[in-house]
Amino acid sequence: MNNKDSKRWNLDDVLPVSQFDNFYQKIERDLLGVEMWWKKIDPEMGEKDFEKMIEFTENLGEKITKIVDLPYLMEAADEKDKTAKLLKTKANDLAIKCQEKTRKIDHWLKGLEVEGKKKLDDNNAKRLFTAIKDLEYGLSRMREAAKHTLSQKEENIVTNKDVNGIEALKDLREIIEAEFEYELKIKGKKTRVIKTQAELLALTHSVDKEERKAAYEALLKKQKDNLDKLFLVYQAAVKDWRYEAKIRGFNSPIAVRNFANDIEDKTVETMMSVCQEKKEIFLKYFEWKAKKLGVKKLSRFDLYAPIETKVNQTMSYETAKELVLSTLGEFSTGFKKLAEKVIEKKHVDVEPRVNKRSGAFCATVGPKITPYVMLNHTGTIRDVYTMAHELGHAVHSLLANKHWPSVQQANLPLAETASTLAEMVLFEKMLEKEKNKKIKTAMVSQKIDDTYATTLRQIYFVLFEMRAHEEIKKGITDEGLAKIWLEMLMEQLGKRVNVDPLFAYEWGYVSHIVESPFYCYAYAFGELLTISLYGRYKKEGKGFLPKIEKLLAAGGSKKPSTILKEAGVDINKKEFWEEGFEVIENWIKLLDN
Ligand SMILES: [Zn+2]
Repeated sequence: MNNKDSKRWNLDDVLPVSQFDNFYQKIERDLLGVEMWWKKIDPEMGEKDFEKMIEFTENLGEKITKIVDLPYLMEAADEKDKTAKLLKTKANDLAIKCQEKTRKIDHWLKGLEVEGKKKLDDNNAKRLFTAIKDLEYGLSRMREAAKHTLSQKEENIVTNKDVNGIEALKDLREIIEAEFEYELKIKGKKTRVIKTQAELLALTHSVDKEERKAAYEALLKKQKDNLDKLFLVYQAAVKDWRYEAKIRGFNSPIAVRNFANDIEDKTVETMMSVCQEKKEIFLKYFEWKAKKLGVKKLSRFDLYAPIETKVNQTMSYETAKELVLSTLGEFSTGFKKLAEKVIEKKHVDVEPRVNKRSGAFCATVGPKITPYVMLNHTGTIRDVYTMAHELGHAVHSLLANKHWPSVQQANLPLAETASTLAEMVLFEKMLEKEKNKKIKTAMVSQKIDDTYATTLRQIYFVLFEMRAHEEIKKGITDEGLAKIWLEMLMEQLGKRVNVDPLFAYEWGYVSHIVESPFYCYAYAFGELLTISLYGRYKKEGKGFLPKIEKLLAAGGSKKPSTILKEAGVDINKKEFWEEGFEVIENWIKLLDN
């Protein structure tokens, strides 16, 4: 194999393309087994039989993931791959067929009424589920979710109305947004037209003050000019969410999200209130930043201004790989070994290519297969962090590969633990290596900027949503909602940051609040959780490492709060979340005065 090939991934461990048809037929034959098990199904059935049946459905699920993931990964590496497109259609059709066949078993397990079978009562469910320790949590969760499920007929109506109603509206919003062209107006310069939001947002981090301001103005003016349309879609999304929350028996709009995350309402409240209480830490930092930039009070336009015009440091893939692996190794030899495994097995697709998907991700195909990592390494320092992040995900999956396929991967609140941890370890290493004081300060400053954006800022998104869901219920105008956004932004930053009134329209571009209401707190949750865990590790030393590894090894086999409790962490206690802010405060101490 030549050098170039070694930088592409080898998907044979998922399934060699030449074996696709054979494998497809094998799954089709397996599907015949569904009827055999359906005959045996009964609330009084023996534990051994039940275990065998679950083993059958888990294995079937694992095979379906393999056959669906192969073309998905092929397409990520080459969006124009015609074979991938053909296999994708075949695999998806098979997956739907499998879903249709196994649905009755799912429904029966959930305790729903299924024709021709006796309902699975609570006592027998408990008896059977506890027989498979590893799946007890997953199966019970499924059953719990059934309490919020409507009748078959109602569910079908909801699905149909969603696809043709709110989902279509959301798509329309995306089309409207994608068609936006932004006019970048800088005094004394010719107006520039910026065609994508991503490009425009990058300019809000520019080293040039005028450019940052112009980028925000272009963005916010667009939102303002289209306020009526953006409001119309958001209002509908909120009303739709509220209505469904109610008919599904949730007691608040945010409870729907908390249930999906399997986190108690109280825990989320605690985490969010600690964030608000500790906001002074970020405000003090913004004060420092103002001084550094030579102004009395920081402007919201300059919130993400870089401190130092950084030397354009770059790193080849080989150097970056050595750095990431050795850094992970200093933290945990287990982490290093597992990350190495991913690279050695040629499961990493390294370089950007024509027709390759942009961005980066880690794909877990199942417990028996080493995860795949896609990168687009161009050599920037950001790319090095991305490598650490995605390899962190892979380590997480590998640590949890003793579980059944359906519970290998962690729930959303824990899903970013290993990835964020890997980035954190790399950050501290890079900081230690950097001898230039000015660059060091710039590195810390950027880290705090990022941490602010993933914690406090996200929490305020959710606080706004809670308010918006109430106000929209009562009835409010588009301008009224913008006013509330500005009020809350002032409450968040107003004491130390000058906020231009144009920021009232900022909410219009936060797509998460429309697409997945209340999702954003998970970012803050994951980030603070990891910072706190890392803080403990720094305090307690290597002795804390086995607890972190055990936590990761649990995958999604238990409730997040249980997994954390076993690591000695109580997410219901304010003190735990406060520990995260201690780490952030220590970073701030590293900044010069
Ligand atoms: Zn991630």
